[in-house]
Amino acid sequence: MKRNSTQRNLGFALAGLVAISLSGWYTWSYMKKQAIDLVQEDVQITESDYEPEVEDADPRPQFTSSAFHITTISVQKNSSIYTTFQKAGIDSAVIHDWIAACASFYNLSSIAAGVKIEMRAAKDTEELQEVFIEVSPLLGILIQRQPHQTWYAEKLEKTPTMDLVAMEGKIESSLWESAAKAGLHSQAIYELTDIFSSQIDFEREIHGGDSWSVVIEKRSLDGKFYDWGKIHAARYTLSDVDHKAVLFTVNGKQAYFTPEGESLSGMFLKSPLKFSRITSTFQVKRFHPILKINRPHHGVDYAAATGTPIHAVADGRVESVGWQNGGGNSIRIRHNSTYETAYRHMSRFSSGLHKNSRVQQGEVIGYVGMTGLATAPHLHFEFYENGKYMDPLGIKFPRKESLPKDQLLAFKQKSKKMVALLQKPDIQS
Ligand SMILES: [Zn+2]
Repeated sequence: MKRNSTQRNLGFALAGLVAISLSGWYTWSYMKKQAIDLVQEDVQITESDYEPEVEDADPRPQFTSSAFHITTISVQKNSSIYTTFQKAGIDSAVIHDWIAACASFYNLSSIAAGVKIEMRAAKDTEELQEVFIEVSPLLGILIQRQPHQTWYAEKLEKTPTMDLVAMEGKIESSLWESAAKAGLHSQAIYELTDIFSSQIDFEREIHGGDSWSVVIEKRSLDGKFYDWGKIHAARYTLSDVDHKAVLFTVNGKQAYFTPEGESLSGMFLKSPLKFSRITSTFQVKRFHPILKINRPHHGVDYAAATGTPIHAVADGRVESVGWQNGGGNSIRIRHNSTYETAYRHMSRFSSGLHKNSRVQQGEVIGYVGMTGLATAPHLHFEFYENGKYMDPLGIKFPRKESLPKDQLLAFKQKSKKMVALLQKPDIQS
């Protein structure tokens, strides 16, 4: 049978959300014995992590209880927690006690409509013993009766367990289709295209036969799937050329690097629009559709719907923002002493943007439109080197700085494991 997409649970878990700390590396705790050998190499395990059973490792009370007679209520729309408890027959003095008991860690009046509240009464006397509020799947508040008509409140938190899961696929018609087949959620597909946005133009360069893989966090709660987290490593094989990325934390900031430790973010994004179509390239001479004369086209036109976000292709400072004759609404950004970029025909600018604003690579600076001389909504994008027009599609962009030397060893340890997981073992064609 032909198999294009597979998902392998690698059988190990992170020690918890908190473990992804600023250190850039963390301790694994093994959930299963069949963890892949390559992963186990060189991994440091602290003694407390040898505990194999999740249940044993978590002595905290469960969110549900069968020892009581339970009535479930919830805050109605346009109502308050106070009114809700009052309607349930609770004395206002008691409600105030509850609010006060929780005040140090949670403001009860901010409980949203629809949140489940369990009123737990003793089975024999029907006297209320506990109130349990399930604020979210990860947070509960337990209010318990104490002697002498007093109440004690505490918060019960659940931490999802985290597995690293490898997923892979092969492009038949589109990246979306292949990713959906593999079960990769749409947010992760965006992340994957972001990771390689300086290397690969996902709109124009990819085609059938390409393949990809990711190592991604899969979080579970009480043994059930909870959500997807960060991509820790990714590979995209474009026409037989491997592009690989490994996530690493440097100075508290997460970023992707090549397995050798070079920054993956180019100094410039490959395109100021995420999904678009090039309708006109850089040309020294071109017949202008409106002016009906031959004149050079000193930029690249990207067709996209009006309102499509436009991203600054690199960090920089806004040199000008405003109307510019045929260019309509235009922005020009200076990135350093050598490079500038310009964006034209925009429908509008991002709010708050003004001359001398600092912008970051990828920041939305405005939206596609057809202001000025334009026959259809598109972005006209210009690139300057030392004040001279350049073809943005023809430049080999410089890369950002690489990993600091003192971090290289720790990075290589992670990189080696991740790269092993990114190979293409399970794809048959
Ligand atoms: Zn143009």
